[in-house]
Amino acid sequence: MSKTKTIKRKIHVKLLTQYCKGCGLCVNVCEQGKLNLEAAPNERGVLPVSDQPDIACNACLKCVTMCPEGAIEIYEEKNGK
Ligand code: SF4
Ligand code: SF4
Repeated sequence: MSKTKTIKRKIHVKLLTQYCKGCGLCVNVCEQGKLNLEAAPNERGVLPVSDQPDIACNACLKCVTMCPEGAIEIYEEKNGK
């Protein structure tokens, strides 16, 4: 009988909120519901993107593709780094 090994991926979502203009495109495209906009405006008068740590990212990269400001980066943790 063959054994199947499950490899758990650790994905990190890095939000560069200094570039975010609060358009919400990434929020709408994330099927995981991981992204939302802050309720209060920041110093630039923008409701910046934020992420919900309890929701997993599947690294689909749709938010990265959609963001016109390049404000989202996705990393996969390898060997604890
Ligand atoms: S990579 Fe995909 S799942 Fe992860 S935050 Fe972006 S849209 Fe959501
Ligand atoms: S798509 Fe980019 S600019 Fe628009 S809310 Fe998301 S992170 Fe901000």
